[in-house]
Amino acid sequence: MTTLEIRNLAVKVGDKQILDDVSLKISSGEVHAVMGPNGAGKSTLSAALMGKPGYTITSGSVLLDGVDVLSMPTWQRAVAGLHLVMQYPTEVHGVRLHEAMSAALDSRKQDTDDLGGQILSEARRINFPADLVDRALNVDFSGGEKKRNETVQLAVLRPKIAILDELDSGLDIDALRDCAQRIEDATREMNLGVLVITHYSRLFEQLKPDSVHILTNGRIVKSAGPELAAQLEVTGYAAFNG
Ligand code: ADP
Ligand code: MG
Repeated sequence: MTTLEIRNLAVKVGDKQILDDVSLKISSGEVHAVMGPNGAGKSTLSAALMGKPGYTITSGSVLLDGVDVLSMPTWQRAVAGLHLVMQYPTEVHGVRLHEAMSAALDSRKQDTDDLGGQILSEARRINFPADLVDRALNVDFSGGEKKRNETVQLAVLRPKIAILDELDSGLDIDALRDCAQRIEDATREMNLGVLVITHYSRLFEQLKPDSVHILTNGRIVKSAGPELAAQLEVTGYAAFNG
């Protein structure tokens, strides 16, 4: 059982205060959705959790099983069990999926004996074409192919807590269904905890949130059960401007 605890987090980019007093607690097997309009600070939250350069933590803490992650470099946060699926996955020229996964598993001191087989079986499971597995990471992939590729990585690396920044942006309905279903399965099969960031509730058809938190203007203004997402579909975010 793993817990990621975000306590009273405040984050600045340059001179601009973007997040203020954000607190969330995500445990193994749970799905927490953070929903908010454009510019609310959703991607800033994912960047701060993974240690993206340029994001300054002005107060608060982030603990993974009681251990401070904010003092760790990004790669150590990943080894500790945090995994980010970025809104816009990076193209990495000259590096293939197998090489990237092999390096990541080595740093976790996990064996890579059956890595090729594992990648192929995960690719098949979410309809990611086998010929794309051998190309450079995400290079010239469509939006849907990139998110399928990222989902294969998540399934192979088996993190403790996954942060999904707009998994639903830039991909078609079939790709969204396959990726969201794979992650929902991971919450049961490997007890993955999930922080899913999105504008829309359509990905909740597969990936079922236990809690929904509304982020506007850098603050969490309301937290409730999945019924809150349904309410948002009716009222929009305007009703929650805090
Ligand atoms: P969301 O993901 O909810 O759409 P972001 O976290 O991307 O929102 O952005 C929140 C606010 O912070 C926006 O006003 C955005 O312009 C600003 N912001 C984010 N990153 C940077 C940056 N690197 N430099 C300047 N402003 C930024
Ligand atoms: Mg964003």
